[in-house]
Amino acid sequence: MVLLLGGTTEATALAAAIGERHPGSIDLTVSFAGRTSAPTAPHGAVRVGGFGGVDGLVAYLVEHGTAAVIDALHPFAAVMPFHAAEACRRTGVPLLELVRPPWLPAGGDDWRCTKSVAEAAAVLADLVVDQALLTIGRQELDPFRTLTGTDLLVRTIEPFDLTGAWSARPLLARGPFTLGGEIDLLRRERIEAIVSKNSGGTATAAKLAAARALGLPVVMVDRPSRPDVEQTASVEDALAWLLAGGQAPG
Ligand code: NAP
Repeated sequence: MVLLLGGTTEATALAAAIGERHPGSIDLTVSFAGRTSAPTAPHGAVRVGGFGGVDGLVAYLVEHGTAAVIDALHPFAAVMPFHAAEACRRTGVPLLELVRPPWLPAGGDDWRCTKSVAEAAAVLADLVVDQALLTIGRQELDPFRTLTGTDLLVRTIEPFDLTGAWSARPLLARGPFTLGGEIDLLRRERIEAIVSKNSGGTATAAKLAAARALGLPVVMVDRPSRPDVEQTASVEDALAWLLAGGQAPG
């Protein structure tokens, strides 16, 4: 069995590629944390919920005779990649990280890079703007709940808790977003700054080009550190690695 740690477009793409091209040769299970309701995968068995720490994951890998693990977790998943690395080290199960490259600033960008969401909230406060767009998901909004003086438009996929001293309005939307749509949104809402995680990928990148076009600052949260494991950004490479039995094809 191959365990695919999912919750990303890369995990979905890899599951789809296995289903289309190698459905009989790779026995796939896709694992979700359960943060979003009713997660699905285009191919493979789906399991939902934590494993119970490193020990739980070790037990799971052994019990299911796991041949390989692909960590296709979101680049901002800060805990699970380390659990996967440690569990695979203990069991000897090969591990590959499939992660999209971070966004890089282009000419004309005004990025204020920060190490954490809490630092991003402080940097946004220092910008002293009337309206800002928050696009960091719904799980780490707490540092913004005490921010006053800036109206926040908070774009998330699923609803979130609105309580706090902040002035926040929800905008429920799921990417991909277009450049034209993002420019319209920023103009309509009179947005003066954007807060983003450096998630990378194409689905939500248009906001950065829109900010560049309108000359708006972007408060960019850098990625958390990752374990030192074999890594690729390519679904094709991950597929080749699996077909080679959990190693780089020779
Ligand atoms: P995290 O902090 O790294 O993980 C917290 C705990 O959640 C882990 O210790 C593990 O519980 C469980 N877990 C995480 N991913 C799992 C998976 N794929 N399958 C089973 N259990 C999992 O992760 P997170 O930041 O809360 O993210 C949770 C999920 O949402 C991940 O699948 C991630 O790819 C996705 N996601 C995260 C973000 C983000 O910004 N953080 C954005 C988009 C999507 P146990 O210790 O009990 O095993």
